[in-house]
Amino acid sequence: MTPAGTRKVAAYLGALAGLSLTLAACSSGTDPAAYPEDDIEVIVPFSAGGPTDTVTRMIAEPMSEDLGVQLVVQNIDGAGGTVGAGQAATADPDGYTVLMHHIGMSTAPALYDDLAYDPIADFKPVGLVTEVPMTIIASSDFEPETFEEFVTYVQENADTVTMAHAGEGSASNLCGLLLTDALGVEVTAVPYDGTGPAMAELVGGQVDFMCDQTTNTTGQITAGEVKAYAATTPERIEALPDLPTTTEAGQPDIQVSVWHGLYVPAETPDEVVTQLTDSLQAALTDQGVIDQMANLGTAPVSEEQATPEAHATLLEEQTATWADIIGASQGG
Ligand code: ASP
Repeated sequence: MTPAGTRKVAAYLGALAGLSLTLAACSSGTDPAAYPEDDIEVIVPFSAGGPTDTVTRMIAEPMSEDLGVQLVVQNIDGAGGTVGAGQAATADPDGYTVLMHHIGMSTAPALYDDLAYDPIADFKPVGLVTEVPMTIIASSDFEPETFEEFVTYVQENADTVTMAHAGEGSASNLCGLLLTDALGVEVTAVPYDGTGPAMAELVGGQVDFMCDQTTNTTGQITAGEVKAYAATTPERIEALPDLPTTTEAGQPDIQVSVWHGLYVPAETPDEVVTQLTDSLQAALTDQGVIDQMANLGTAPVSEEQATPEAHATLLEEQTATWADIIGASQGG
């Protein structure tokens, strides 16, 4: 998409305010009655250390205990999460390859003309996992102290300010576009393969600001390693009680939250999906997972949401929504 195109997308993101932001031996070769017999690879389509990786590792531990095999995280990053998702789409549909992805699963079809997979047709959803608020943060040596000062500073210095994100269609990219659109500015975007490495460079002062999930920002905010300006939620985040919301700061249209879900290739047997869903649901009621998520500003979804049905419904709705928004922004 051209820079003008991305600007137009941003113009429509405001409309999203309030939108939140599933035998016997079969063709796969897996005997569902015996599943799982071996380690399960979980593809995270962003770099290690970022928010998608963090949430995946949180649930991998109790799911490994529950299933009696190891869930092994593989970070296959690049192109806003589409490289890892593409590999998951073509993996053997035997339940031994699972994908963790977020809202980017629903934005990619409209943003990538050459997308090698169909997020709906090529996968079975296993269940939703969590929905994570975002925060607007900056390097500790970035001049503005408050969100109001940030707005003025970015508007006056747009030609020199830099903004990190995790590739086209990533949550940080979408949130950043929404933010800069609300401010009426264009800044230099610096893409990374995930916001884990982006955070390292932000802390190091190599890039100025970023919009990212609390699962990657709460620790650094609390430790004072970054400046935090606002939470992109209607209410303040419990783990960050001093952080004002964008609404409090006079920018109510900047509201984004990032839903995550687990997927398997489309031909995976339903019995295998059911075992993964059951295990996911158990992990999401694990007190350790609940506590870790709470410390990072989020919570597990309800049991009803951690189902293939609820996950499929949200994916379809969000894919249609983003197709409309992005299509309109590109004049389609
Ligand atoms: N937070 C990233 C995003 O902006 C992805 C990640 O590194 O987990 O989509």
